[in-house]
Amino acid sequence: MDRGAALNAGRTLITDGHVLTMDPALGELRSADILIENGSIRAVGPALDAPGADVIDASSMIVMPGFVDTHRHTWQTAVRHCYADLDPPQYFAEMLGPVGAAYSPEDVRVGTLVGALSALDAGITTLVDWAHCMNTPDHADAAVDALAESGIRAVFAHGWPLAPEWTRDSALPHPADLRRLRDCYFSSPDQLLTLAMAARGPEMARPEVWLGDLRLARDLGIRTTVHVGAYPHNARHRAVAQLRDAGVLGPDLTFVHCSRSATDEIAMIADAGGSISLGVHCELNSAGMGDIPLDRILAAGLRPSLSGDTETKCSGDMFTQMRLLLAYYRSWTGGGHSLVPEPPFLGVRDVLEFATLAGARAAGLDGQTGSLSPGKQADLILIRATDLNLAPVTDPAAAVVLAAHPGNVDTVMVGGRPVKRGGRLLAAGLPAVLELAEQSRRRVLATIATQRVTRR
Ligand SMILES: [Zn+2]
Repeated sequence: MDRGAALNAGRTLITDGHVLTMDPALGELRSADILIENGSIRAVGPALDAPGADVIDASSMIVMPGFVDTHRHTWQTAVRHCYADLDPPQYFAEMLGPVGAAYSPEDVRVGTLVGALSALDAGITTLVDWAHCMNTPDHADAAVDALAESGIRAVFAHGWPLAPEWTRDSALPHPADLRRLRDCYFSSPDQLLTLAMAARGPEMARPEVWLGDLRLARDLGIRTTVHVGAYPHNARHRAVAQLRDAGVLGPDLTFVHCSRSATDEIAMIADAGGSISLGVHCELNSAGMGDIPLDRILAAGLRPSLSGDTETKCSGDMFTQMRLLLAYYRSWTGGGHSLVPEPPFLGVRDVLEFATLAGARAAGLDGQTGSLSPGKQADLILIRATDLNLAPVTDPAAAVVLAAHPGNVDTVMVGGRPVKRGGRLLAAGLPAVLELAEQSRRRVLATIATQRVTRR
């Protein structure tokens, strides 16, 4: 499999697509072209002139930016759906306990690789890999290696080793390996991978620790992402309020879930220019986590981003997140459950924005991706409008949000480089990768079985 870092040096013209640019200034264009040069979008509009360019006929396609997933524990992909019917506390006790602690660098590598490849297959071109299985520096190297090999644009959010002393009133500062990783892998601005800190924050670490962690991230010039407000025992910390009181809230912070975060805390995130990531399917699937606070988020003026969270309990594709969020919101607000007196309207185009442009902002990459705007990288997908579940298309945005699925994704480009064409992922060696994933699955399931017997 090639390394995926090289950008397409040529010119490509995508012609006659129904283009959902997600760029507020450009809007939606029927029968428009997109000219790509050296991996970037050069122009978007009708009947572009581009002699000598490779042409991709998109006359039967919906063309839009690739999706941006802002929080996924990609390392867990080899044991997809193994917590489907188990309560969340069991997932936390096992996967984020002895099972995760027993993950080898190879388990992290293959899980991350399969997760990133399947994200690409589903039209996700940017992934925030929320890597909290950083048991050793070798585990971090393995995750970075897998992300690079996949060809996806990724934010590698580096976390901590899975042992109780790191997450329960922890006195341990974020692993110093973060600095080595920055110097080793992330020194060039012209690459698909960027670095972030997956931080523990006030719900897991002592004040001097989370303050020091945040200082380290800012010292290194990287963003920080942190889980807050999921389940009552976490919400009680009022983590966002603690950060605000310490004077360290800022636009470089992305808060994951916020399910039970207080309304004043959501307003604090908005005031500081911060962002929120909703792992919709997992949030709806996890008893006790709390309601998705989208009404309160929108009322605060925030535009959330979306994520696949953990595939041990849900689907990772963005179509699922969009569709469930819209249905949930309408059921919730229409059912009179909202805590907001007049909940804002939510339409399919809002949800599409959350899955693209708002995601790019939360990843700190809105200058590069998230919309089909001239000057940005050509991260885009073509969805077959002629497939039986979509045709005939009346409203392309509605078709994507309400009915499309990964099987409708015909073409995926990252930085102008095709990674999926004609409905087929182009990565070489897929059967071998899946075989490695199967071996990892068996190892991890054996660990799960052993530690369940030990705990009895
Ligand atoms: Zn998470």
